[in-house]
Amino acid sequence: MKMNLYDALKKFFGFNQFKGLQEDVVKSILDDQNTFVIMPTGGGKSLCYQLPALMKEGTAIVVSPLIALMKNQVDAIRGISETHGIAHVLNSSLNKSEINQVMSDISSGVTKLLYVAPESLIKEEYVDFLKQQNISFVAIDEAHCISEWGHDFRPEYRNLRNIIKQIDNVPVIGLTATATEKVQEDILKTLGMTDANVFKASFNRPNLFYEVRPKTKEVEKDIIRFIKQREGQSGIIYCLSRKKVEEIAQVLQVNGINALPYHAGFDAKTRAKHQDMFLMEDCDVVVATIAFGMGIDKPDVRYVIHHDIPKSLESYYQETGRAGRDGGEGHCLTFYAYKDIEKLEKFMANKPVAEQEVGHALLQEVVGYAETSMNRRKYILHYFGEEFDEVNGEGADMDDNMRNPKKKHEAKEEVAIILKIVTETNE
Ligand code: ADP
Ligand code: MG
Repeated sequence: MKMNLYDALKKFFGFNQFKGLQEDVVKSILDDQNTFVIMPTGGGKSLCYQLPALMKEGTAIVVSPLIALMKNQVDAIRGISETHGIAHVLNSSLNKSEINQVMSDISSGVTKLLYVAPESLIKEEYVDFLKQQNISFVAIDEAHCISEWGHDFRPEYRNLRNIIKQIDNVPVIGLTATATEKVQEDILKTLGMTDANVFKASFNRPNLFYEVRPKTKEVEKDIIRFIKQREGQSGIIYCLSRKKVEEIAQVLQVNGINALPYHAGFDAKTRAKHQDMFLMEDCDVVVATIAFGMGIDKPDVRYVIHHDIPKSLESYYQETGRAGRDGGEGHCLTFYAYKDIEKLEKFMANKPVAEQEVGHALLQEVVGYAETSMNRRKYILHYFGEEFDEVNGEGADMDDNMRNPKKKHEAKEEVAIILKIVTETNE
């Protein structure tokens, strides 16, 4: 007898309701359709493939770009799967006997979800093995990694279509939080699934509060004050350089804040340890480069601070999006100085001209956002091609500009600058 969708949702996850488009996505996958899911971070993409995987016969393969991310998800699934099926990871960190165990669980049909890194999936021995198994579907998480236009291109992702074909002609599910058209088209084409059912959610995150402050010499004091007002809450601080990460982490520690640094210069063990401590709440604040965060499911991150502004609005959106995934408050505070933009421009100086042009255009959007006095949510959503009703839209008043409109003379100054630009271009 087939289990009712809502019963399964309750049984496996303890939820009574689907979030957003989840129900339609799950139905599409249960129906063996190629499916493409575009939902913002925190939208609940994992459940879209985890629930059908648990309900279907056989093993679902989940391709995911990072070991940390897979571990995170498997731990979460194991929490619910003690009695209902098993999630496994297959990657380079396993030894021979662990690999054999995983394979035997797949063969005996116990494994419902198999998480693999793309570079592992490409291995011939695995492909040969998986060919002979009962595979329910292949889900490709963080599917934007397939596109050079995305913010996190991974060349191994481009081979996935071929591998999937070899394993079996099973449905493919692509999932991403990248909202730009270009990346979406690229994903559908490269995965050979232009026939897919497409589900695109709104990118509005109504529970996030956006704030931009001028970056002064007092920036560290500002950050400390901000954190101390939120004692015991979890937060992430993003910095541009590893050096700055370590500096800020130290300043915070000296000031009695439970902070740890995270960047790609630390060895894997230290990184895993700091990440786990953050997830387990043994540490309140992680100070990090962009190496930290992709897919990390800590639902109650209450604030994301940008000590340095990112190089595109897309990155800004992804990074701030790690706050408030549980739907509770998420404060996104960015410190902005124009000289940081100049610094980012300088980093691009050695790149090919075409790349510099793209980089420059992306940076101009960041400047526009940082300096605007309009509704920040509207600005971000417009960037993603979405209309936002700044009067009645959800979260319409959730930014610094809307809560404390600039004093008249400041606003006037900004108008004056815009007018100047308009006049100049008219000439
Ligand atoms: P994404 O991968 O889209 O960024 P996740 O799959 O990590 O998002 O889910 C974000 C959060 O939403 C998680 O904490 C998850 O437990 C929660 N969540 C997902 N689906 C539901 C639901 N139907 N009801 C309540 N919470 C949900
Ligand atoms: Mg995810």
